[in-house]
Amino acid sequence: MKTAVFSLHKFEKPFLEQANQGRHELLFFDMRLTQHTATFAKGCEAVSLFVSDDASAPVLDILSSMGIKCIVLRSAGFNNVDIKRAKELGIRVARVPAYSPHAVAEHAVALMLALNRKLIRAHNRIAEMNFSLDGLTGFDMNGKTVGIIGTGKIGNVAAKILHGFGCRLLGYDVYPNETLVQQYALQYTDLQTLCSNADIITLHCPLVEDTKYIINSKSIAWMKQGVMLINTSRGKLINTKDVIAALKTGEIGSFGMDVYEEEEGLFFEDHSEDILQDDVIARLISFRNVLITSHQAFLTDTALKNIADTTINNLNCFSDQSNCDNEIKL
Ligand code: NAD
Repeated sequence: MKTAVFSLHKFEKPFLEQANQGRHELLFFDMRLTQHTATFAKGCEAVSLFVSDDASAPVLDILSSMGIKCIVLRSAGFNNVDIKRAKELGIRVARVPAYSPHAVAEHAVALMLALNRKLIRAHNRIAEMNFSLDGLTGFDMNGKTVGIIGTGKIGNVAAKILHGFGCRLLGYDVYPNETLVQQYALQYTDLQTLCSNADIITLHCPLVEDTKYIINSKSIAWMKQGVMLINTSRGKLINTKDVIAALKTGEIGSFGMDVYEEEEGLFFEDHSEDILQDDVIARLISFRNVLITSHQAFLTDTALKNIADTTINNLNCFSDQSNCDNEIKL
């Protein structure tokens, strides 16, 4: 199947080629799919998209008019695709439901440890021949209370790792998982109780109507003074301006973010030659107790292999017109 692969990153290409084994004709584009770039898919039957691509209704209309019959997402999340419009147009959409929950959970914990033990500051000091330890005091993870919001596949792995550190675990989820209660003594609670008792809060729920801005001035007011907040899930779970206000007063003691509500057109790209136009991210970058990564929590070789294998498998199903387990149904 001739497929236009949008938002291709250099690191993905060898994995996709290895998984494809020449079966499908893949056209690689490093640009994002938008209304302006959709015509690059002309002559193709399928497109492959990443989280930063725009598959809103107007873009889908253009794709459909050019004969696109299916979309294979190289991501688990699909909030960038108008699924309803895709169905109306008869475009089949499949995703990669799970590629490595370990990759994302381990990155969340990496952010926790780096913030807690002030690793970036320590590293920068050493580069300046400053071997002083003043200002680098952290805390023992052992015995601290961690609140996990969303205890699905990634939250599960995070619970296992943090239990290993000796943390006490609180969970908030619309579907509690008894196994976590049994295995890691995780206690399910309501959002307010979790926020009021946790020393660290880590977000692992999807972005849906109910979770949009779940972290806002109201929930921040419930939190312990100096709480550590970690978001590797989706930017819009957090009202960034409310978090900045709380960082300024010290209500939030540290903030690790791998996702940002305005990340489109910023993350995944080299803007080192540009004048930064986004004042909110500029303010975040200026805090010493904020650690930002550019949506890289998924970025391990295991995850990339799984993403490529599942994407090509989804393409195989669509080109054979067979049932696809990973197809998104309305
Ligand atoms: P999952 O579906 O296995 O788990 C999500 C959990 O959130 C489920 O247990 C669900 O019941 C719970 N949930 C749903 N609605 C909720 C609500 N209103 N309140 C509380 N809990 C709710 O998903 P997962 O694989 O663990 O992924 C979680 C999220 O991680 C994804 O939605 C995605 O946004 C994000 N993610 C980020 C990266 C990255 O690179 N940063 C990579 C993959 C996934």
